[in-house]
Amino acid sequence: MRSIKWKLIAMYLGLVLIVMIVSGTYILLSLRNIEIDKSRAQLESYAEKINEQVVESVEEENFQTELMKTVTNAVGIQGNILDANGDTIASTTELKAPYPTYTDQAIIAAMNGMTSFSSGKRSTDSLGLLKEWMSYAMPAQADEGGRSYIVYTRLDAGDMQDSLNQTTQTIVAAVAIALFLAAIMGYVFAQTLTGPILALTKGAKSLAEGGGLNQSLKVRSNDEIGQLTSSFNYMASELTKNMSEISREKNRLEILLHNMSDGVISFSKDGDLMLANAAATEMLGVEEMTMDFSQFIRAYDINSAVYLDMGNEPSKKVTFPVGKQFINANFSPYYDTAGRIEGVVVVLQDITEQKKLDDMRKEFVANVSHELRTPLTTVKSYTETLIEGAIEDREIALDFLSIIDSEADRMAFLVRDLLQLTRFDNKQVRLDITEIEMNEFLNITVRQNKIHAEAKNQELTFEPYPHDVVVYGDRDRVGQVVNNIVTNAIKYSLEQARIRIYIGEDAQYYKISVRDTGMGISREDLPRIFERFYRVDKARSRAMGGTGLGLAIAKEIMESHGGRLTAESEYGKGTVMTMWFPKERPVLHYEEDET
Ligand code: ADP
Repeated sequence: MRSIKWKLIAMYLGLVLIVMIVSGTYILLSLRNIEIDKSRAQLESYAEKINEQVVESVEEENFQTELMKTVTNAVGIQGNILDANGDTIASTTELKAPYPTYTDQAIIAAMNGMTSFSSGKRSTDSLGLLKEWMSYAMPAQADEGGRSYIVYTRLDAGDMQDSLNQTTQTIVAAVAIALFLAAIMGYVFAQTLTGPILALTKGAKSLAEGGGLNQSLKVRSNDEIGQLTSSFNYMASELTKNMSEISREKNRLEILLHNMSDGVISFSKDGDLMLANAAATEMLGVEEMTMDFSQFIRAYDINSAVYLDMGNEPSKKVTFPVGKQFINANFSPYYDTAGRIEGVVVVLQDITEQKKLDDMRKEFVANVSHELRTPLTTVKSYTETLIEGAIEDREIALDFLSIIDSEADRMAFLVRDLLQLTRFDNKQVRLDITEIEMNEFLNITVRQNKIHAEAKNQELTFEPYPHDVVVYGDRDRVGQVVNNIVTNAIKYSLEQARIRIYIGEDAQYYKISVRDTGMGISREDLPRIFERFYRVDKARSRAMGGTGLGLAIAKEIMESHGGRLTAESEYGKGTVMTMWFPKERPVLHYEEDET
């Protein structure tokens, strides 16, 4: 394992080994030098002693006996006296001749008149064993002008070597113990170092994996590692705080986006889809938004002038249809802090209702203009004819004036109806609600309209309900609705037709129906007859003085009473118009506001 622990231990051991080897070698060398110096001093002083007590004091024949009497200052030193030729003439190793012969660098130096010391010289001893020697040789003279000799002393270096070897062994043992202790210490030290590092590593890993830090790491010391741990703890707590803040913010945004009524789609600068909220998928009529930018543009056939890198252009607005809906898309690019394009956000708005209202308004204005133009043209042309001279002929003039009068009436009716509708639209209509007994009310209506029906040879009847039918309503306006429906039945039925008024009821409503055996209304026209200005047969309606607003107003009145107005019809057979009055007194819109 290449962990820092083992590296540290290895370094520790290496360091100890180097220190011990260097210092051990130094100690051994120093010891050896000291030993050699000591031996040299011993050899030298013994040689001086032999020179004084033997060479300078006695005759050559007595050298051997005198030499044997000398006392060495250390054990194991051999003393010898050699003549000027290097032949041994007395020796402490033998009692009598033949004495051993020596060949030594030091002896040659002494023969040349110099004292000399040599160490590490290998040579045999008296028993013929090869040993290492330290030797000393000095030239000597019997007395003034006497014969020259050489005093040669030597010492077995084996003892010194033994003691040095022992020291070496001790040092090696010490090194082993030191290494062992160093290993333990290194291990403990590494452990204290790597323990917190491992904990930090684990903590960082868990942070990186998004697990957060459930518990801050323990700070065990005040050193650099302790500081690192507490810094790490601080960083982790800040990170956790920031992360939770970010995720809260993200949640908030997601909720906002999800609950927005506007659709939001965003694309990256490469055109990849980044997000699409629920409103967007709903508006685009897809289960899930998966299109990238170009697929999106193609799928909805969006103006090719919209492209991803819109540069510094502001936003672009495009309207496109999706099924029956109309969607308004606002493309706005967004940038990073350096001003480079990051992508584009598309905000979608369903403008179907708005467009419908817009279209209706346009159509309405067109209709009103058209309705007014016809009577105005008539009035204008008759007036001009009168001015040009027709006024002279009293009969024609009166005829023309009555036409002008009726056209003016028609315009007045139109304006009256429009004003009434406007009041309903603006919720300005106040109803004077009273209890109306319908049997009686419808009887009166029938009586009023009978004359018109009879003029067309039509039969207009009302079958009274077996008991009182009390509805809540504004008498004048309910009258307006009933009259409008009965008048229509008369108008849009041929001669001989039968028009029957009757009452029905269910749990909630009284139903007043007007059934005729007239021309009926085709299936396509039926749902549209309550629209403003809608007329199945424009010419006939206009000829009969209709404005095309009657049923639209009737419907508004019924709805303002909390009721309904419905139509059933079979083309060519007849029509049934039904007014639904709630049995309970309705709560009117302005009463609602007042409470
Ligand atoms: P108008 O002023 O033209 O009568 P209304 O709003 O009262 O306008 O009626 C709208 C259209 O509905 C009429 O033009 C007519 O074509 C059709 N309509 C209404 N009532 C009947 C009916 N009883 N039978 C056949 N068509 C009818």
